[in-house]
Amino acid sequence: MKYCRFSINNQTHYGSVEDRNGELWIVDVSPAPAEDMAYRVALEETDAGNFDFAPMPLSAAHLLPPVTPSKIVCVGRNYRAHVRELGNEMPVEPLIFFKPPSSLLAPGGVIRMPAVSERVDFEGELAVVIGRRARNLKPGAPWRDVVRGFTLANDVTARDLQNKDDQWTRAKGFDTFCPIGPIVSDELDLDAGLNLETRLNGEIRQHASTLDFIFSLPELLVFITSVFALEPGDLLLTGTPSGIAPLSPGDRVEVSIPGLGTLVNTVESDEK
Ligand code: MG
Repeated sequence: MKYCRFSINNQTHYGSVEDRNGELWIVDVSPAPAEDMAYRVALEETDAGNFDFAPMPLSAAHLLPPVTPSKIVCVGRNYRAHVRELGNEMPVEPLIFFKPPSSLLAPGGVIRMPAVSERVDFEGELAVVIGRRARNLKPGAPWRDVVRGFTLANDVTARDLQNKDDQWTRAKGFDTFCPIGPIVSDELDLDAGLNLETRLNGEIRQHASTLDFIFSLPELLVFITSVFALEPGDLLLTGTPSGIAPLSPGDRVEVSIPGLGTLVNTVESDEK
């Protein structure tokens, strides 16, 4: 299963995605996931769902963030080399924080660098989309039952504010600081390791395997759901590998994992 969320004629739709000779295509409109009640109601109240859809390349679509999470849970310091580059101690338990849903940014959207920060970094990450409510998952529980699939994310971070503030709400929470997409897929074998790559202006800056996680996805799900419930559509950003670097206006940042396409965003200053 691969899907995206997109806009056509000013109406939001979900689309089934297929790989056609190495290019991702939207081949049909598809039902909305349970968490997107607003979309379901809109479809019922209008005839927006009744039109002849012609397949199109994903690259030609007006894409939206593929999920509408109630919360975005992030893991800090989950790759050994990244912990070392920040000069931090190896964590003995996961370090979690939130980004607000208002920080979501569509594929192709512009990351706005706030004037209050002098250093805004990219953080390419694998993101997990929750498919079923999960609370108090036990070690060894079938975690795949609660995972709908995977997508790409960029945990954009105002590094100077992260170092200045006692917690990270401001540094991680600016509008546009959570690009995600372009698709959600469950056709990946996490156990075999996924190769994450981040390019800045075409140059590879991050390249790592999820086999380098300090805490595995099942361990993260057990830890997080011991604190709060995860709901369908919620996002879990699994941490960034080494190679983080600052962004500048005019930059183009691309996060990719084979099978998930490429999340592309550009950067501009937010000075009005
Ligand atoms: Mg991060």
